Amino acid sequence: MFERKINNAELWLKIRKLRELINQTPNFKKRACFECGKDLNIYDFLSDNLEFTAGYVLDMWQNALFEFFCCECFKILKKDEIMLIEKEIKTRYCSNCNIPINIFKFSNEYRHLKISELKEYWLKPDSKIFCSRLCEKKFYSSKDKKKF
Ligand SMILES: [Zn+2]
Ligand SMILES: [Zn+2]
Repeated sequence: MFERKINNAELWLKIRKLRELINQTPNFKKRACFECGKDLNIYDFLSDNLEFTAGYVLDMWQNALFEFFCCECFKILKKDEIMLIEKEIKTRYCSNCNIPINIFKFSNEYRHLKISELKEYWLKPDSKIFCSRLCEKKFYSSKDKKKF
């Protein structure tokens, strides 16, 4: 929740910056979902990609080489990709409480991760996987205590 609030302030600044940049872009593109053809909004795209600067988001938007998807189509694509990861490793166990986790539960809990990051965590044998963010917190806080 706290994380969200910070992101909102950051998002707001980036939206303003992006608006300025668009005003200075005479050939600003209209974009539609590559899959279903629905009109896309660059500000939605920005809010999904907060790790990028407004300028970079605009560059990607204007770049004919990139394909864009609406939220719904993206979710379906994501699900397909997750199923491919599931084929490699079906179950992992929480590094804190040891309960079995499947990749769908994991991806739901760690929604902010990109598919590539999700895949990396899930498939790397020595990576720590947690059933929830709470478990992750517990794990690292008990570890800190042991150090002292
Ligand atoms: Zn679509
Ligand atoms: Zn756990």
